[in-house]
Amino acid sequence: MSAELAMSPVMHPVMPAALLLLLSLGVSTLAAYVALDLARRVRVLWTRAGILWLLGAAWALSLGIWSCQIIGVAAEPLPFSLGYDGLGSLLAWAAAIVVCVAGLGAVSGRVATPSRLGFGAFALGAGIVGAHALALAPLGLQPGIDWRFLPLIAAIAGASGGCMMGLGAFFRGGDRTRPATLPWQATAALVLGATLVASQQLVIGAAVLGEQVSSANAGQVSPATLTLLASLGSVSLLLVGLIFSILEARLRLSLRRAETELQRRSYRDGLTRLPNRLMFDGMLAQAVQQAEESGERMALLFVDLDGFKPINETLGHHMGDLMLREVAARLKRFSRPGDRIAHLGGDEFLVLIRSNPSAEDARIFTDRLQASIGEPCNMNGREAAVSSSVGIAMYPEHGSLSELIAHAEAAMRSAKSNGGASLCFFETRMVSGAREQFDLLRDLRRALAEGQLQLLYQPKVHAPSGEITGAEALMRWHHPQRGLVGPAVFIPIAERFGLIGAMGNWLIDEACRQAGVWRDEGLRMRVAINLSGYQLRHADLADRIDAALRRHRINPQLLTCEITESVAMEDASNAIRMVERLGAMGVNISIDDFGTGYSSLAYLRKLHAGELKIDRSFVLDLETSADARAVVDAVVKLAQALGLKVVAEGVETEAQHQILRSFGCHELQGYLFARPMSAAALSAWAMEDESTRGIEFRDSLYKPTAAGALH
Ligand code: C2E
Ligand code: MG
Ligand code: MG
Repeated sequence: MSAELAMSPVMHPVMPAALLLLLSLGVSTLAAYVALDLARRVRVLWTRAGILWLLGAAWALSLGIWSCQIIGVAAEPLPFSLGYDGLGSLLAWAAAIVVCVAGLGAVSGRVATPSRLGFGAFALGAGIVGAHALALAPLGLQPGIDWRFLPLIAAIAGASGGCMMGLGAFFRGGDRTRPATLPWQATAALVLGATLVASQQLVIGAAVLGEQVSSANAGQVSPATLTLLASLGSVSLLLVGLIFSILEARLRLSLRRAETELQRRSYRDGLTRLPNRLMFDGMLAQAVQQAEESGERMALLFVDLDGFKPINETLGHHMGDLMLREVAARLKRFSRPGDRIAHLGGDEFLVLIRSNPSAEDARIFTDRLQASIGEPCNMNGREAAVSSSVGIAMYPEHGSLSELIAHAEAAMRSAKSNGGASLCFFETRMVSGAREQFDLLRDLRRALAEGQLQLLYQPKVHAPSGEITGAEALMRWHHPQRGLVGPAVFIPIAERFGLIGAMGNWLIDEACRQAGVWRDEGLRMRVAINLSGYQLRHADLADRIDAALRRHRINPQLLTCEITESVAMEDASNAIRMVERLGAMGVNISIDDFGTGYSSLAYLRKLHAGELKIDRSFVLDLETSADARAVVDAVVKLAQALGLKVVAEGVETEAQHQILRSFGCHELQGYLFARPMSAAALSAWAMEDESTRGIEFRDSLYKPTAAGALH
């Protein structure tokens, strides 16, 4: 005589069988859901990440198989007491992991073709049945089990069919490129969960036991203990796995969003959202090509606002920005389909008219445009109006593609020198406006020798404590006739005509000298300098910095070199090499104006910088744009993930300050804390009673031993 496991007459004491089976279905479904969630993260299987995700998925599903088995046996009414061999039970689980790796590995990270789905489903189905059968071994049943083959084969067929339906629901239509939506994933999980439970029941049905059967391990781990472990333990582990998977997916999504936004921003001006110079160059080249083919004319307008600087200075930069946005909006409203507009930065805009205009058409258009710009702007209840000067270059008469913008600009300067609020068409004599550049260049050569260059220092504050930790050196030119000239004017000229080398060398020495003076005054100020692309391309840069540090006995850790993101990208391999050399010397590297030049995350990883400086344009938008907030938040997370420090520049308002602090920015810089000031003013501030400004200098700045310990 023999008895089937399922037909023995004794009730099991733990819980009603139906409830246990329901519990088993719940755990199995959860396990399948987590497994699918992890499996969908496998992008390419044979990579480290792919294999880790697959192992995670296999771990989750095998936990489900194992739990389902344990709970399923507990639900069986048996005429003798049971016990598990702990090691054997672990081995059965290990076998389940192998099965799941094979089954899930067949479909994860690949296009789910019908043959792959079929193979995966069969491997999983047969494996699950095998694992269920194997899982009876740790019970140590004496005499052993007689297996009935037909029900076993039926169980394999049923389990494979169930897995096919489950995987099929997950990879709907065999299109792996479209990830399953959550309802589909849940459906697939439920089908797989039910398959696990049903196949376990079928396996038990196929097991035939002798009449005098007993469990050799009856004294060991009890089914009640394992059931508790299988339900509570597995569920909590699976929930942890699920939470991890969801968090990872969120981080990935926010990084992807940030990357797209950064890419978009590298072609758009942050303030007005109009195309920037880079994008406009591309659009102009395309338009010129089309105009050449069609023989049509175009007019390029270079628009510059008159008297914008005083507005900025008297009403504040915020009002200035509002006005620029309003002007951009008016330009947009005014342009016709096909026309192109760009914001070059500052108060300069370009408009390209592509409707085959005659010179007269362009004049009429410009007159109207100027009238529209000149209407008063209402900025937060304050009214202000600006006029504009416009230079017009006609294509093709006024120059080729490469000259067109420069010629429109020369015409604009001519309009300006007529007193502003006017327009000028380009004339050849205007190019002698390039004369002005030569004048500046001549004066700039003298500037160095005559000591007209000066460094101002803008403090950086530690975000959590609000204490000053260092300062950025910013160059100024005291021109004998023109007055104070900003770096935006003279640095491009110096770069173009090869003067930046000498100026850069002066800057390096001057910044180190000043750091030495501060040190002698008892102030260990960290100093940041800005490096130009020209300097980076010169192999002797590192030697020069090294020599200056030695000459003034400055700890290299007190020096930071800021390299703008676009410069770092221009000459990537050179930049990486130079950064490595500087890093080896102990100098810190900061990626300046981050977000304005599109750099790939992979590249950032290669460039061993220690700091990212988020560009001012992002900070500017923080209060008004959810996009900007999302990007800054993601950039901070990204930087943290890459082990970089984040500095935000251009912080002007308390609200921006609070938002940046809440994101976890390390350091802040901007007019809210301090404007660029002379070295003497900064020393005086450090030495005076700090309460006069409410911002303190970090204690460690005063301690000779604490050099470099500021992070
Ligand atoms: P940067 O390195 O991004 O420097 C920050 C600029 O933002 C500085 O302008 C600073 O005065 C300004 N700024 C700081 N906080 C605020 C704020 O809250 N609101 C606003 N609206 N502006 C703020 P600056 O001094 O005109 O310098 C402009 C750029 O010229 C610098 O940008 C840097 O790229 C370059 N530059 C300055 N000094 C040097 C130098 O010595 N060498 C080189 N190669 N470039 C320099
Ligand atoms: Mg800088
Ligand atoms: Mg910057």
